[in-house]
Amino acid sequence: DLLSLCLSRRKAEVWPADFERKTPVFDQKLLCEAISEQQFSLCYQPIVDMSSGQIIAVEALARWNQPELGMVRPDVFIAAAEQWGLINELTLLLLEQALKQLQQWHDLGLVVQLSFNLSPLSLSDAAFVQQLQQKVQQADIKPQLICFEVTETQDFTQVSAAIESLANLRLKGFGIAIDDYGTGFANAQQLSRIPATRLKLDRSLTDGVSERPQQRLVLENTIQLAHKLGLSLIAEGVERLADAMVLKRCGIQLVQGYLYHKPLAAEDCTLVLCNSPEQQAAS
Ligand code: C2E
Ligand code: MG
Ligand code: MG
Ligand code: MG
Repeated sequence: DLLSLCLSRRKAEVWPADFERKTPVFDQKLLCEAISEQQFSLCYQPIVDMSSGQIIAVEALARWNQPELGMVRPDVFIAAAEQWGLINELTLLLLEQALKQLQQWHDLGLVVQLSFNLSPLSLSDAAFVQQLQQKVQQADIKPQLICFEVTETQDFTQVSAAIESLANLRLKGFGIAIDDYGTGFANAQQLSRIPATRLKLDRSLTDGVSERPQQRLVLENTIQLAHKLGLSLIAEGVERLADAMVLKRCGIQLVQGYLYHKPLAAEDCTLVLCNSPEQQAAS
């Protein structure tokens, strides 16, 4: 509704003006320190059902505010953590944080699903995947309330251990989302091999669709394919109302983007959830 929309606009995080250009230099030691000192926090970006206005889920997005460097972009420090073998440790730390937040929302009677990003590298480590499940179990959160998002940064369908991990998680009741679909390696062929429940359409597919009929054709085709494969859909990176309208007409119900909400600090997200009347009806 309008109130929560205004609220989110006002309280949306503001990056420093030079944030995009600045790529701070840090080394392995600094990242190790950051993990042991827990310098990471999570932002939450609502995923909205366009027809009811209900927030059905929030995606947890990692933030690193390094005392000397300031904010470091997540794609930069996630890639570094992957490269230096620190990604599993970092992921478990972040998951713990997200689960605590989810419990807090549940205590307030707010029912919302959590979308949580996993590095595809982690998936071939069966022990790690076991640890993930243990953390969720220990937090007393139902697997159905968690959707793990995976981006194909390489063709991990070649890695049978990764596919097995995903199949295993899905069997336990977790949702599995293919993130950033339309970029990189995730192609139509691989869609049929990944045991996913959901497809997240990348911004490059959705942005500007209201102005480009050709792009709309590609989108309609993708939507049809997803439906046939039994996948639910989320349109990512929706910034413009005109695009949202077209997406809706094409049969997309769930959207995530600045038009509705930017990634929010935990407390701000709590307020937005509280102010969403459908949210409370759902609880
Ligand atoms: P992602 O998982 O695809 O997350 C969505 C990104 O799109 C977020 O960027 C979000 O802020 C941005 N976004 C959402 N709506 C809009 C919009 O309307 N317009 C535009 N221009 N952007 C929008 P963010 O937070 O910078 O994260 C970037 C990437 O870093 C994520 O992409 C994800 O791949 C990675 N990442 C973030 N947190 C984690 C994490 O905890 N673990 C892992 N493995 N990766 C993470
Ligand atoms: Mg994601
Ligand atoms: Mg994405
Ligand atoms: Mg991404």
